[in-house]
Amino acid sequence: MTMPPTTSGNRGLQIEQALIFELDTPGSTAVDLPAAPKVRTRLGALKSDKAIGLPGLSEPEAVRHYTRLSQKNYSIDTGFYPLGSCTMKHNPRLNEKMARLPGLGDIHPFQPESTAQGAYELIDTLAHWLKTLTGMPAVAMSPAAGAHGELCGLMCIRSAHEANGQGARKLILVPESAHGTNPATAALCGYQVESIPATADGHVDVAALKAKLGPTVAAVMITNPNTCGLFETECIAIAEAVHAAGAYFYMDGANFNALVGRVRIADLGVDAMHINLHKTFSTPHGGGGPGAGPTVLSAALAAYVPVPFVTHDGKKYSVEEHAGLGAAKQSYGRMKGFQGQFGVFVRALSYILAMGADGLKQASGDAVLNANYLRVKLAAELTPAFKGICMHEVVFDDEWLKGTGVSTLDIAKALIDEGFHPMTMYFPLVVHGALLMEPTETESKATLDQFIASLLALARKAKQGDQAEWFKGAPYLAPRRRLDETRAARKPILRWKPEAASAVPSRQAAE
Ligand SMILES: *Cc1c(COP(=O)(O)O)cnc(C)c1O
Repeated sequence: MTMPPTTSGNRGLQIEQALIFELDTPGSTAVDLPAAPKVRTRLGALKSDKAIGLPGLSEPEAVRHYTRLSQKNYSIDTGFYPLGSCTMKHNPRLNEKMARLPGLGDIHPFQPESTAQGAYELIDTLAHWLKTLTGMPAVAMSPAAGAHGELCGLMCIRSAHEANGQGARKLILVPESAHGTNPATAALCGYQVESIPATADGHVDVAALKAKLGPTVAAVMITNPNTCGLFETECIAIAEAVHAAGAYFYMDGANFNALVGRVRIADLGVDAMHINLHKTFSTPHGGGGPGAGPTVLSAALAAYVPVPFVTHDGKKYSVEEHAGLGAAKQSYGRMKGFQGQFGVFVRALSYILAMGADGLKQASGDAVLNANYLRVKLAAELTPAFKGICMHEVVFDDEWLKGTGVSTLDIAKALIDEGFHPMTMYFPLVVHGALLMEPTETESKATLDQFIASLLALARKAKQGDQAEWFKGAPYLAPRRRLDETRAARKPILRWKPEAASAVPSRQAAE
């Protein structure tokens, strides 16, 4: 039996909520102020001649509006987030408490150095951990995210080439499975990008890479583990070939959470690698930030580190502010106003100290174990894209959906009805109809088992052969049904306009 629609449009605790502008009740307000006394306006022509158009609501209406919207949000605190390439893990509350401590939460970058010694020590201690965990001699702390760290690394590489009379090198090699930020960073830095193919088993094609190396190549950017969730076993051979050709080896360290405590990055011959503190060392980042992307540097690149950075003279900390002077003599300049994302540093150090060296090593091991648990259990119905053991994430192709009329997208949408955020879809691009999943170390076996059971059941349903129609309608139970994502991307309606309101099809009709 299906339940008829309710009169209110609400479904139990799932409450329909209009846009706040649609809730506008002129004259309604959350505060009661006495009428303003009559005074002559001095705004002249700048005086507004019409209402500014803010919606009027009482305080309880406003509170309900935003609370209801917040409840429509899926988050790591409400459920499992199998997104790959993102590391959506639980962020211990302790880190949040530390970040809000008076003296850390309210510190100001313009404070005199003498009053911020503790903050500098914190940055320096975190830098020490990052250098120790990677075995690299230097780290630039100021980049604000992974992509910003990539830019920092490439700016150091460009500076080094210019200093060595190699400024004519204009090419960066990037594997085709790379995250989009890699080629984007190279382009932003003024480089041309050439892509390196992947082998059928999901690795960088080393022979193809070597064939492209030459006097015009400035650097090679490689992600390890790569975006197929596989360890690039040829890293050392790649580094040697890259160095022999006079180029630098940039490693995208977004997946460092699979290696922490197990692989010393320096041993792979890496010259620069960003670390996404918000992914590997725990900062909530579902809403797109803030993050931090410290970039570890080899001895060959260390001198070019951007300002400002923290130094210690044996007695006190200070900040090197000016490129071209003192310890920053060869610095390529400034890429961020201040020392970096201090709040994220506090969270990362809090996480690192709470975990300890042994805990960090266990986390990377558990992350890999959980991904392989998904790989083995889901292989009962799904087709893993690559043979063998994966690292912290696992990717399936859509071979298993062949002939069913059901697509990767349909499966992802049906998962929403099961109460799970969908996995990453159609990425990496080198895998047809990819479903990429990263469970992380913080998910319990019970959660993974429930996810596996749901996904296997959906897979069996899809394979029944006559269920494509049903899948195309999913999700059925979400506040909104299948959206026209192409139209939303191409013709986004980002502003509510009273006159256009009637021209926009009602959201019910759009379903
Ligand atoms: C997340 C990610 C990036 C970009 O990092 P941001 O912090 O989002 O800028 C780069 N490369 C890979 C492989 C990633 O997963």
